[in-house]
Amino acid sequence: IVNFSAGPATLPFEVLQQVQAELLDWNGSGMSVMEMSHRDKEFMSIAQAAEQDLREVMGIPANYKVLFMQGGATAQFSFVPMNLLRGKAGADYIVTGDWGKKAAKIGGQLCKVNVAASAEADKFTHIPERGSWNLDPDAAYVHITPNETIHGVEFHAEPDTAGVPLVADMSSNILSRPIDVSKYGLIYAGAQKNIGPSGVTIVVVREDLLGETLPKTPAIFDYKQVADNESMLNTPPCFAWYVAGLVFKWMKQQGGMTAIGERNAAKAALLYDYIDSEPFYTNPVRKADRSRMNVPFTLANPERDADFLKGAKAVGLSGLKGHRSVGGMRASIYNAMTIDGVQALVDYMKEFVRTQS
Ligand code: PLP
Repeated sequence: IVNFSAGPATLPFEVLQQVQAELLDWNGSGMSVMEMSHRDKEFMSIAQAAEQDLREVMGIPANYKVLFMQGGATAQFSFVPMNLLRGKAGADYIVTGDWGKKAAKIGGQLCKVNVAASAEADKFTHIPERGSWNLDPDAAYVHITPNETIHGVEFHAEPDTAGVPLVADMSSNILSRPIDVSKYGLIYAGAQKNIGPSGVTIVVVREDLLGETLPKTPAIFDYKQVADNESMLNTPPCFAWYVAGLVFKWMKQQGGMTAIGERNAAKAALLYDYIDSEPFYTNPVRKADRSRMNVPFTLANPERDADFLKGAKAVGLSGLKGHRSVGGMRASIYNAMTIDGVQALVDYMKEFVRTQS
């Protein structure tokens, strides 16, 4: 099966094989990672290696903390304002799709949210021009969703926020290309697309932003307390953390972010070039803002959607149904998707067009 699901998504096959080989007996310990105490030296070594490898592969500066949390990106929609307001009244949100909209709505339960720009009126088919953003100079942070998983819209460079910390929900494009972490105040991402199994959420945060939570913030949601306790205030998601660590090692073996970024660019170009060349298929997103990770497309004849999906499944291509709010199809082509997988999809799309005539 070639899995185009938006998430949980395909993991690198080599990593799955390693998980299988180590499942019952990790490194001669006589135990599965699932059975280990998170306080034992075996798991501590797994946890520390995962953080070190993530720091290396992502180029995380020493003044940033790395947290392995639970609750998914959705929990971060609340944790971010709980931790980062630092006495300020509100924050700016740039809404480029449904996930950013959700982050702003949930953030608004805890602080004054200023939607400084939104592309909703244009059905989230582009990123609003930076010059049109109505930023509040006194905002605690500016929140963006660098890749909108549902609408297939991606920032290809960090916006200038005039010194206000940039906060990014990178759930669907973390570790997909080189980035300069020092341009961000905080990055968060659920693991289940580019990193590993669902259940662990990565937070990378500049340490000078920590330590001033909203009153009554529980310790388990307080980034500083989580950091001071090495993400082990309580039982962490041990198995997901371990698999994430294997994926970070796999990324290093692949040649790191530069090589992975080039491969992702090539995969996306293969699919978009075909869509643009064939009038039967349409991607509505402005070319400069198209996602390298999630490629929504529609058929000229939507009555054929069900046939398209059925035929795809029959040749081993799964997870192509578009999100219900957008319709049509969506091919998610995260890091673990191979170029051969994308080629198989393009071949199928060509064949499907041929059967129309
Ligand atoms: N943010 C983005 C960009 C997403 O794609 C998703 C899930 O698909 C979420 C947030 C929600 O993540 P979770 O299910 O980990 O809470």
